[in-house]
Formats: sequence, C-alpha cells, structure tokens
Amino acid sequence: MEIKAIRGFNDILPDEIGKWQFVEDTAREVFEGFGFSEIRIPIIERTELFSRGIGEVTDIVEKEMYTFTDKSGNSLTLRPEATASIARAYIEHQLYTFDPVAKLYCIGPMFRYEKPQKGRYRQFYQIDAEVFGVENPMVDAEIILMLIHFLKKVGLEKLELQINSLGCRACRPRYREELKNFLTKRSFQLCEDCQRRLHTNPLRIFDCKVETCQEAIADAPRVVDYICDECHKHFNKVKEYLGMAGLTFILNPRMVRGLDYYTRTAFEVVSYQLGAQNAVTGGGRYDNLFQEIGGLDVPGIGFAIGMERLISLLPKEKEFFRYPHLFVAALSEEAYREAYQLVNQLHLQGIRTELDYEGKSLKSQMRRANKLKARYVLILGEEELKRGRAALRNMEDKSQEEIPISDILNVIKGKVKGV
Ligand code: AMP
Repeated sequence: MEIKAIRGFNDILPDEIGKWQFVEDTAREVFEGFGFSEIRIPIIERTELFSRGIGEVTDIVEKEMYTFTDKSGNSLTLRPEATASIARAYIEHQLYTFDPVAKLYCIGPMFRYEKPQKGRYRQFYQIDAEVFGVENPMVDAEIILMLIHFLKKVGLEKLELQINSLGCRACRPRYREELKNFLTKRSFQLCEDCQRRLHTNPLRIFDCKVETCQEAIADAPRVVDYICDECHKHFNKVKEYLGMAGLTFILNPRMVRGLDYYTRTAFEVVSYQLGAQNAVTGGGRYDNLFQEIGGLDVPGIGFAIGMERLISLLPKEKEFFRYPHLFVAALSEEAYREAYQLVNQLHLQGIRTELDYEGKSLKSQMRRANKLKARYVLILGEEELKRGRAALRNMEDKSQEEIPISDILNVIKGKVKGV
C-alpha cells in the first residue's frame, strides 16, 4: 500500500519553495535591521510549559495539543506556538544577565490538532518575533512598525492594523465579571462549549464562530471601557507612538486573541487584498507569561505570522522560482567530457547549470532545456568543438552566437549576472 502524508501535514514542493525562502529571507533582513536575533527552540517541550503558559482553559490546551507520553513516562507536547518556548529559553539560559532586553525571532513549524481545511493545517509554519524586558509602550509601536514594514516588503497590500487593550491583572477580573453577568442573562443562546466557557474563561466566547454565540456577544461590554488608569495611559501612549511612526490603525474592541497570556496591547493585521478580510497575523503584550512559567517578572510583547496564509497572499505576478541560468547540451563523447568540466566550474561559481546525463539527441535536450525554462543553452557539438568553439543560444529571444570555448566561463558569467 502506498504510504501518504498524514492529514493536515503538507509537503512544500520545489515549485513553491521560492516563495517560502523569499518570505523567510525578507523576515531575517527586516527583523535583523530592527535589532532582532534569531533563536531556534526545540519542537517538543514538557506539556506543562504550554498548559501553564498558554492557559488551561484555551482551545489550544484543551483540544489542540499533540501530547504524548515518552518512554520515560514524561508528558511531552509538540509546540503549538513559539512564545512560551522562547520565554523558557530566556529564563533557562539567563539571557537577562547579559541584557534584560532581548529581541528575538524564530521561524518554524507549529502543531495543532485542528480540523484540517483550506488555510488550517495540523502542521503549519509561523514567523514569531518577541521583545522581552521592556514595559515602555514605545516598544509596542516599534514591533508593530516592524511587522507592517515586513508585510509591505513582501508585497502585501490593503493592510489594516487593528488594536485593542485587554487590560491587566488588576483590571481584567472586573471586566470578566461584567462580561459574565451580561452573558449569563443570554446563556440560552450560547453553544455547549460557550456555556462552559462562561464559567471558566468568558473572554473566549468572542472567538466562537457559532452564530448564536456571536449574536449573544454583539452588545457585550467592551474591555477598553473597563481598563485601569495605568492601562489607559499605556494604551494612549501606544496610539501616540503609532501615529508618530506614521501608522494608521482602527480600534477593534472585540479583538481578544485566543491565548490567555495577553495583557494590555493586542493587535491584528488584516488584508483586504482578496476582497474578504484575512487575518494575516496577530500579537500582543504578555506581562504575566514569565510569572506563569518561571516566576520572573519580565514584560513581553510579540507577534506570530501564519506563513501559509501570508504566502497565499503574495503577489501572483511575481516570479519566485529559480530557473537554471544555463543548460549545457553535449552532442558527442568528447563534448560530454568538456561539458562535465565546464558544468563543475559553473556550479562552483554559483551559476545554476543543468546537463543532460543521458546522451539524448539535440532535439530532446532542447525540449528539456525549454521545459526547465533555462535562460541560455550552450550547445557543444562535435564540429564546433574541433574548431574550439560552442554555440550559445538565448532561449528568450532565440538568438544564437558562437563563442570560443576558452571564453565560455567569462561570457556566461557576464550574461547571467544578476539574473
Ligand atoms: P495564533 O498563534 O493562534 O495567534 O495564530 C497566529 C497566526 O498563525 C494566524 O493568524 C494564522 O495565520 C496562523 N495559524 C494559526 N493556526 C493555524 C493553523 N492551524 N493552520 C495554519 N495557520 C494557522
């Protein structure tokens, strides 16, 4: 029986990979320009890290984690997100002793046991960026500026920045109670999950997709109306700094984000490029996460971009695939020896060169060169070779010229420079 990939787990094939590399390269360039360093964290962590960090009463922890017991009886989990692991690494390696401020980013796969559908997978990729150790709202605006700059740089258009404040440990409980009271009167409208959430984590009800739950919550009290003075001040500063950075935004009082650890600033960027709204990325401040997982009082803020979704929004007209610069067609035993030497030289110089290994006819070699979309074909024919020359064909305008074999390397390097 043919073995296939597991549902919700995708291969990213060579014809797609150019987009992924472009997005990753751009993220590295932009983020490092903003002073961020890459961090690579394990794919598996102790389950506790996520249940304590993300919160027991969240969809991720309740339903979506890939959790298993290893041979020693430890409960381990495939990471469903990166923030908790990056925070753990910061504590474990005492990065704060060098500098309390850490600006870190991470690119890699995450795992959630969700119902697979278009745009929703069980293994998906995220680009994460986090700033630890700064409470100043200036950094909230700075990280948002970096995010928007990155999204524009990869070619996304019609972006809308939405922000909200979720309050803090001091003021959120009062809001929670208000929300709970409000929804208790409408509990008959709530789905089974939300009836339970009403008692465990009523804010989660904002994220429920069930229509009657959405109706029940439509006129619910807004968290921004309940935040304390400190949170207000922080939020006003964030808005001021966003303005100073030239960013426009809209207030979305219903955005609460899916994870428990968020405090104060929450944000999402949606793109209206394809007509319908598309949340490309979201993030926020999480000043309590460190206390949950390591007893440290360190503020943090970050975002996670879903790569599959971002890649689906890349400009369609842009070419990401790296076609061969050159195809070498050899037409005799002797020509193959020459071709072999030449191809090796070109590869060592980073010139993408393809060779036919099968000794096929010129016609069939040209067909392959065409299929591979090689920009040039070098034809090493028996007759030309005797005269110390070869034919170079430009596959775009079909022009052909003869060049001395001794010049080939230089001529080709000159032609494909910058291609
Ligand atoms: P979150 O970590 O839930 O805030 O999600 C951040 C981003 O990751 C979302 O905006 C999505 O683009 C992406 N994402 C989350 N879950 C999935 C999934 N199951 N499949 C694909 N992308 C996802």
